[in-house]
Amino acid sequence: MAASTTKGCPYERCDGSGWVYVDSNTVRECQCKKDWRKRTRIEKLFSVSGIPKRYRDRTLKGFNGERQPAAYKSALRYVERYRELAGENKNGLCLVGPTGTGKSHLAFGIVNELIKQSVAAVVGVVPDLLDSLRPKEGGNAAAEERLEILKTADLVLLDDLGAERGSDWAVERLYLILNARYVEQLPTIITTNVPLENMELDEYGNTMLAWERIVSRIKEMCYVLAVDGEDYRRGMR
Ligand SMILES: [Zn+2]
Repeated sequence: MAASTTKGCPYERCDGSGWVYVDSNTVRECQCKKDWRKRTRIEKLFSVSGIPKRYRDRTLKGFNGERQPAAYKSALRYVERYRELAGENKNGLCLVGPTGTGKSHLAFGIVNELIKQSVAAVVGVVPDLLDSLRPKEGGNAAAEERLEILKTADLVLLDDLGAERGSDWAVERLYLILNARYVEQLPTIITTNVPLENMELDEYGNTMLAWERIVSRIKEMCYVLAVDGEDYRRGMR
């Protein structure tokens, strides 16, 4: 099967077949074919990168930019600058805003666009994702492998972070993933309904240390993007 089915090689190194001719007798595998193999492995473990059905076809083009002009512009710009940001500590995005603002559409649109460009991305809706990491009866090899992929994939989208504060175990897993990605400078995209300044607080307003560590990593790793609509905000004042 060809590495790239429709548009040819994203690296413009091969003719789209996944093979590069070194000379008339020798071919070697193109980077795009290597990427494709990595994605196949991810898809097997996460079933189509873990992208929920309703988000599979979401594109940035399909987003009504007038709804959230600033966030929309930033999303487009992020895709443009993705490879250039790769070597930097801050190379992720954290989209913060209430439900119904389109932040998940934007996030999945970014990821779908980058997958098209051969980025090996893994997506998880956080509560389900954490569930999939739980050791199951009969061994936890698959859970361990999933965790490993979340720590090392080119790009990870964590959708709906903070919706549930989760158990100590879940919070620890989240931190492991974020920290590993931080150390390796791997980009992470996050969506959340919870403003970052509230994420580390419990219901009594006390700081939860485990979440404080997570928030601090997010701030180091991600550009924070408010997706609440400027007009909407103005209206509130
Ligand atoms: Zn190629």
